[in-house]
Amino acid sequence: MLGCMAVAMTVLASGSKGNCTLISAGRTRLLVDAGLSCRELLRRLALGGESGSGIDAILITHEHSDHVGGLNVLAKRLRVPVYMTGATHEAYRRYARDSSGNCIKLERLERFEAGRAFEIGEVTVTPFTIPHDAVDPVGFTFRSEGIKVGVCTDLGYMPASVKHHLHGCQILMIESNHDLEMLRGGPYPWAVKQRVMSRVGHLSNDALADFFTTDYDGGAEYLILAHLSEQNNHPEIARMTAERALGEQRNLVRNQLMLATQHEPLPAIRL
Ligand SMILES: [Zn+2]
Ligand SMILES: [Zn+2]
Repeated sequence: MLGCMAVAMTVLASGSKGNCTLISAGRTRLLVDAGLSCRELLRRLALGGESGSGIDAILITHEHSDHVGGLNVLAKRLRVPVYMTGATHEAYRRYARDSSGNCIKLERLERFEAGRAFEIGEVTVTPFTIPHDAVDPVGFTFRSEGIKVGVCTDLGYMPASVKHHLHGCQILMIESNHDLEMLRGGPYPWAVKQRVMSRVGHLSNDALADFFTTDYDGGAEYLILAHLSEQNNHPEIARMTAERALGEQRNLVRNQLMLATQHEPLPAIRL
């Protein structure tokens, strides 16, 4: 029975072309975001020995298509509740269409509010507000069996409230979106560059490094750099920037650094 109580996380995909992460604790299995096609998402789940029929719920961080692109088909297929904030659901309903161009109605919708924790099976989920250009974007922490897991991408900067929520995570998945020099010199139109760099855009390698040197508690056994830009970042730059920042801290020997990618799932992390 012991193995059955473990908390685990598998990043199935991370980046501007699609996001999805599996969190499991005991017999409870949750998907965070559904930004891959249903078929690809189920294929990646199967690679890790999981199946769609084991999923209990889908939780959505915000309405951008790289987070909800596969939601409609997936929710129909799995017949599980979809958790999102009321405002995110409104935005989703307004813009999302099925393959025939019709409006989408989620059959099992559960609304939550940022700042209010709730339970799904054996997991306590705490959604918290993040600064991003969506209507009501959130990050999540998940607690079960004394283990805390944090998932936080798509944020322009790290407000004190976010740092507070991420305190004490044993597994922390956090955005390291772009290298500022690569973004500035890269191919994006100026308006898009400005959006990415803004307070409601995406977290740069340097901004994350800043968090690591000044506020991070150093307690995570696994740190996952996530939502890396394929255009404006390089995995080695992201890794080096994070390692340098973490190296300045003591007590960080336990931190295993991993980089989430767009095109294949990371191996499962189990605690
Ligand atoms: Zn995103
Ligand atoms: Zn986004």
